[in-house]
Amino acid sequence: MGMTMTQKILSRKAGKQDCAPGDLIEAKLDFLLGNDITTPPAIEIFEKNGFGKVFDTDKIALVPDHFAPNKDIKSAEQCKRMRDFAKSQNIKYYFEQGQEGMGVEHVILPDNGLVKPGDVVIGADSHTCTYGAVGAFSTGVGSTDLACSMAAGTTWFRVPEAIKVELKGKIGPYCAGKDVILYLIGKIGVDGALYKSLEFTGEGVSELSMADRLTICNMAIECGAKNGIFPIDEKTIEYLDSRVQGGYKEAPDWLFPDPDAGYSQVVTIDLSEIRPMVAFPHLPSNTHAVGTFEKIKIDQVVIGSCTNGRIEDMRKAAAVLKGRTIAEGMRAIVLPGSQRVYKQALSEGLLEIFVDSGCVVSAPTCGPCLGGHMGVLAKGEKCVSTTNRNFVGRMGHKESEVYLAGVEVAAASAVLGYIGSPEEL
Ligand code: SF4
Repeated sequence: MGMTMTQKILSRKAGKQDCAPGDLIEAKLDFLLGNDITTPPAIEIFEKNGFGKVFDTDKIALVPDHFAPNKDIKSAEQCKRMRDFAKSQNIKYYFEQGQEGMGVEHVILPDNGLVKPGDVVIGADSHTCTYGAVGAFSTGVGSTDLACSMAAGTTWFRVPEAIKVELKGKIGPYCAGKDVILYLIGKIGVDGALYKSLEFTGEGVSELSMADRLTICNMAIECGAKNGIFPIDEKTIEYLDSRVQGGYKEAPDWLFPDPDAGYSQVVTIDLSEIRPMVAFPHLPSNTHAVGTFEKIKIDQVVIGSCTNGRIEDMRKAAAVLKGRTIAEGMRAIVLPGSQRVYKQALSEGLLEIFVDSGCVVSAPTCGPCLGGHMGVLAKGEKCVSTTNRNFVGRMGHKESEVYLAGVEVAAASAVLGYIGSPEEL
């Protein structure tokens, strides 16, 4: 039987001709990631075990994005621990707050050209699956795995089975990658792809921008997937060519699924049937199309995160908010995903649009996405958020409610005061 994209990458990085779902393989790692929450425990393990030096100073990124700029003394100490380790180990990609190229980890790794097709990437963060958008095998691990892998440069994987997600048709107005992935999770459930690879394919792929693909792969973990992965096309090459050092002109010729690759399931999605989606509390699978439910009054809107904090997202939000003000009593927080996104939004006049409409514009940070800072919810409050999780207490009090949506629905809801679409404005 032939191999899926994920099998091809894993077998190659394990130095094997082939591999099958269920095989245990040890793969060479092309890139590793840690943040200010997960790296300090990894450093602890690294040092306790006397690992000494990291395997490659140029293949590790450490990003203080969760509680940074530091929200309290504890987070300041965590960031300091990571900063000191990066310095002592001479780690090339330690991103300091405010520095060019800095931002939320899953926005900046692809944007800085640090992940490429065929790479194997691990990160001590569950949304490391984002980089499947550029044809990499990327997945989240725990701090112990990060510690050992920083020393060894390899790690073990059980080769996942794959679900083929066949995309067809054209995506409709006010719909984007967020609506596609919410639709898929609504269809298969939060455990619908447990430890499986989501392999996207079909003519509909070319309809999706790289920003859409990054959003879709970012949320692969929300249906339990080990990874999500897109095939390489002209859009991928164009995206990488302007980011990877030295340019990027050609995709690896081995990186495509075999015609007889085995899939445990095939899910077909007609993009033209998808409407702007909202995931109600408290699961990303609790999806409803906008316009199919009664008015739900909200207190706050958050636009940003590793899911929807890219410049394309800022542009879409600004297009909805331009010349409008947010509803009375509403709080709207916009978090550009990186310094580069912030600067680009500034130069395009988008930040002025946000401020004029009554939004708070934050420095790039995870902030409210994990109930950290910059917009934590009080008891009973309701928030529409472009982030990726709406579990109980995710963004604040355990009796607050998070409704996940795309950028245009979030922006429109900030103006309307209830969950709605731009068509209602
Ligand atoms: Fe995690 Fe949210 Fe930060 Fe993304 S923005 S890395 S989901 S905390």
